[in-house]
Amino acid sequence: MKGRILITGVAGFLGSHLAEELLLRDYKVVGIDNFSTGKEKNLKKLKQSKNFTFIEADVSSNYFMALQNQLEDIDEIYHLASPASPAYYLKKPIDTIDANTLGTKNVLDLAQKNNAKVVYASTSEAYGDPLIHPQSEKYRGNVNTWGPRACYDESKRLGEVYCYLYYSLFNTKVKVARIFNTYSAGLANDDGRVISNFVNQALLNEDITVYGDGTQTRSFCYVTDTIRGLILMMEKESANGQIINIGNPKEYTILEMANLVKKLSNSKSRITFHPLPIDDPKQRKPDISKARKLLGWTPQVDVVDGLNKTITNYKNQIDSKE
Ligand code: NAD
Ligand code: UDP
Repeated sequence: MKGRILITGVAGFLGSHLAEELLLRDYKVVGIDNFSTGKEKNLKKLKQSKNFTFIEADVSSNYFMALQNQLEDIDEIYHLASPASPAYYLKKPIDTIDANTLGTKNVLDLAQKNNAKVVYASTSEAYGDPLIHPQSEKYRGNVNTWGPRACYDESKRLGEVYCYLYYSLFNTKVKVARIFNTYSAGLANDDGRVISNFVNQALLNEDITVYGDGTQTRSFCYVTDTIRGLILMMEKESANGQIINIGNPKEYTILEMANLVKKLSNSKSRITFHPLPIDDPKQRKPDISKARKLLGWTPQVDVVDGLNKTITNYKNQIDSKE
């Protein structure tokens, strides 16, 4: 039996995929979640494993800190707890700030006590609306503190500051993953992020809702590639004290993505245009040289293949409900 791993945000999209992969690799996994955006159904398969334990808790609460006795002997912590979809963090801005600031501090305190390693799930949003393209980890970003997205972008950035401080003051083995848009059918149908919206709309022949004129770009990474990157970050000593981009450098405009999803789904949907959310970044593409060099990581799933899998899996979910 290998070590004991804590995943915060285990009932969410990435957390549940990560837990599944680590259980397959024979680790014991303790999962924490407060179900703010996560789903009980994401835990169903995990709970079938005798090596999985679930605790319902908010990482930013005193209750989480009171659990520390139950969390002794933790070797590794993946701190993923935070709303991630703009649709959710705009509804719960203060909770989002707490998860990434107080929650991150609590997680780092736990790591320090247990001499555990930490991977913190930061985000490409740390670059804000970037003026440098593609974005390397050296770029310091262009983030607005005075707007609706700030609760997410700036709290992730403060979470990174906590990581920096625990690494430099206490030698905590912490690594920061700046994750770019990740997708698969594991995204809840009502998640509100672009791939889940577009694929569900296309499969139901509903309007595909492009925000703005669709010229803004994003880079989309299939979930298995992102999870492999996070696990490599945890494993590699060379990643300690480092910020590393995890994302697929293939860049699409949102309108191209709408057309691609429509074509791959054989959909009759119309593409319709809606107001662009405030501060929606105009471009996003990771420079992944650092991940290549330090982790030997590159994405392996081609975007069209990943979309085809996603479309098939969402279709099965829709068919099984009918
Ligand atoms: P998600 O919303 O599916 O999952 C987040 C999980 O965290 C949910 O289960 C939610 O209930 C839980 N959670 C939120 N606040 C909590 C709290 N205070 N205490 C305990 N649990 C809490 O999102 P996701 O896509 O799985 O994202 C996971 C992490 O990765 C997030 O930190 C997100 O910011 C980061 N990230 C994701 C992406 C992506 O494309 N998926 C991109 C960049 C960063
Ligand atoms: N978007 C869109 N239609 C949708 C959902 C999102 O055009 O139904 C756009 C959104 O405005 C943004 C991009 O797609 O420009 C990615 O949005 P998402 O919420 O997935 O993630 P973000 O990168 O903005 O955090």
